[in-house]
Amino acid sequence: MTLNGEMLIGFAAVRGNEGERLAFNPATNSEIAEPVFGMGGVAEVERAASLAANAFDRYRAAPLAKRAALLEAIAEHILGLGDELIDRAHAETGLPVQRLQGERARTVGQLRLFAKVVRDGHFLGATIDRAQPGRQPLPRADLRLAKMPLGPVAVFGASNFPLAFSVAGGDTAAALAAGAPVIVKAHSAHLGTSKLVGSAIQKAVKEQGLPEGTFSLLFGAGRQLGEALVSHPAVKAVGFTGSRQGGIALMQLANARPEPIPVYAEMSSINPVFLFPAALANRAEAIGNAFVESLTMGAGQFCTNPGLVLAVDGPDLERFVDAAATALTSKPAQTMLTPGIFDAYRAGAHGTDAVRGVVKVAEGEPAGERANAAQAVLYVTEAARLLASSELKAEMFGPASVVVRARDFDQLLELAEHFEGQLTVTLQIDPADVAEAKRLLPVLERKAGRILANGFPTGVEVCDAMVHGGPYPSTSNSMFTSVGATAIDRFLRPVCYQDLPDMLLPEAVRDANPLGVWRLVDGEPSAPEA
Ligand code: NAP
Repeated sequence: MTLNGEMLIGFAAVRGNEGERLAFNPATNSEIAEPVFGMGGVAEVERAASLAANAFDRYRAAPLAKRAALLEAIAEHILGLGDELIDRAHAETGLPVQRLQGERARTVGQLRLFAKVVRDGHFLGATIDRAQPGRQPLPRADLRLAKMPLGPVAVFGASNFPLAFSVAGGDTAAALAAGAPVIVKAHSAHLGTSKLVGSAIQKAVKEQGLPEGTFSLLFGAGRQLGEALVSHPAVKAVGFTGSRQGGIALMQLANARPEPIPVYAEMSSINPVFLFPAALANRAEAIGNAFVESLTMGAGQFCTNPGLVLAVDGPDLERFVDAAATALTSKPAQTMLTPGIFDAYRAGAHGTDAVRGVVKVAEGEPAGERANAAQAVLYVTEAARLLASSELKAEMFGPASVVVRARDFDQLLELAEHFEGQLTVTLQIDPADVAEAKRLLPVLERKAGRILANGFPTGVEVCDAMVHGGPYPSTSNSMFTSVGATAIDRFLRPVCYQDLPDMLLPEAVRDANPLGVWRLVDGEPSAPEA
């Protein structure tokens, strides 16, 4: 398709007049000449939000099969963009083509997963407690619960997943599946990619005969447009992936509204990895090599990047450090997503260099003349330094990690108690480590959303059981996940209907079960009739 710099508001293409912006190629360190994007402002937010508010009741009333078909049509249209999408995303992010192809497959898979979730109907939480008119001492009314969408959702696309966490990413798919219209604020790091994907969604909404306003895509400077969007009374929830600073700013704004709304922000995490004694004794070198692969993948630009490694000091830990250092030395520098993210990475590494008692044990290949290319780095320090230093506990978004030597296992437990909330914690354990792992687990369960053994945290499977979330500050709300089927729960709320006539009830809780969904009836699971 011919890419232009217009936003998509409902079914219209709208050129913003709050300034112009060109996309940027971080690999060549230069602007991309075409197209010129027109930035939107408060007027465009108003237009998109009022269309979304008007669309809400009609969109949520559409049959579930139609909602599922929309998600599947979006997936098809994204695939239909072919190489144009991959080429544009590659130019705007510097991410390798193969990685982007994988990410596209994940995005499409995610949309199809949510189509299945919608058809299945479990997410509606249909629950029926039938009337008990003869109950003593008081009769019970007929009570029926079904979940409904919160209302229009604002989505802030992530810089580090231009497809899977952006315009048609997990937040958008989950919100559309829940029955909520979506307004996306495109990330300024990949405007053209956003426009291509937005066009695929707009086309699918039109084709399915769904209401205008079910989807809009806005371009604009973060502060002005983003703040207007979060403040708009028609917007009822926010999905965000990015910096802690940005997430906290949006949370504060949402809380200060006359009607506060939830902000589901996924922010920062350092994803500690614990190396247990038997695992280290048996396979220190193998763990070291696999760790470096995880650390340097995608220039370390993953929210699940392993930024901290902890173990009891000794010769086996030395073997791990030596192997990791050797592997890291041959890793090439990689282009980061934006000059801003590259600068933040360099500043983080300089900050770590300056912490007393932290030793740089290895660096990857230098970037040479290449712009915005991150050199991988590995540090080693003592447990006491980690406890004393706020720099070492902060996310260094990029291919950098710190190995922490502990005196004994009790000191590892003490370190774990000091962690902030994390998306993941990893255990490298062998059978002989299980007793000690059992001591650590209750602490880790309090700290992290996902605990994994004998793997590395990068690579988040999109499935029913996934949790990509965790206690603050890894996210703003530890009760939910932003990846996987249950991500839909963020955009739903329960409504109880008491003694309503059958024909006024949502279909999910009508006597005849016309949707054919699983329900809890008088406390017993009730399967739909075959
Ligand atoms: P960001 O600066 O937080 O931006 C994310 C999105 O939010 C952008 O669309 C941005 O607008 C908007 N935004 C930011 N602050 C805002 C505010 N105060 N009000 C309204 N909108 C606001 O994140 P980023 O650009 O992706 O990366 C910056 C840093 O975030 C990285 O260096 C890294 O440390 C961290 N990061 C972490 C993760 C993670 O998953 N843990 C992922 C990505 C980034 P604009 O597009 O106009 O800038």
